[in-house]
This record gives sequence, C-alpha cells and structure tokens, in this order.
Amino acid sequence: MSKFSFKCPGWGHDLVVRSGVEIKDTDDLEGTICTNCNRTIHKDDIVKQARDHAEKLVREMIGKHFK
Ligand SMILES: [Zn+2]
Repeated sequence: MSKFSFKCPGWGHDLVVRSGVEIKDTDDLEGTICTNCNRTIHKDDIVKQARDHAEKLVREMIGKHFK
C-alpha cells in the first residue's frame, strides 16, 4: 500500500495505526481509535477518504497528460 495516511474524520488528526499492523484492507481499520480525540474510526470513513484520494490522483494524472 502507498504512503497515504488516513485522517481522523473528526478533527483531521493524522490517524496513527499501531506499528507492526499492516493495513491490507479497510476492514483492518474498523474500530481504530484516534489517539488524539479518542474517536472511533469506522470503515465508511476510511472508504470515503480512500475514494476521494483516488479521485484526486486520477484528476492530477489526467491534468498532466492533457495540459
Ligand atoms: Zn481525532
């Protein structure tokens, strides 16, 4: 997986995933607790962020090719 770091959906904290835990699937993040605000992270939050991130990458790629 790339270096994309997920953000806490509450306050935009960087979501720190316990070291040694490899995220292979969004299921792995379900129930993760934000270390900054103790907010529980749900899979839907992560899925949305991943989708937004992917769309942004695609837009940048397309922008470069067609400028
Ligand atoms: Zn937080």
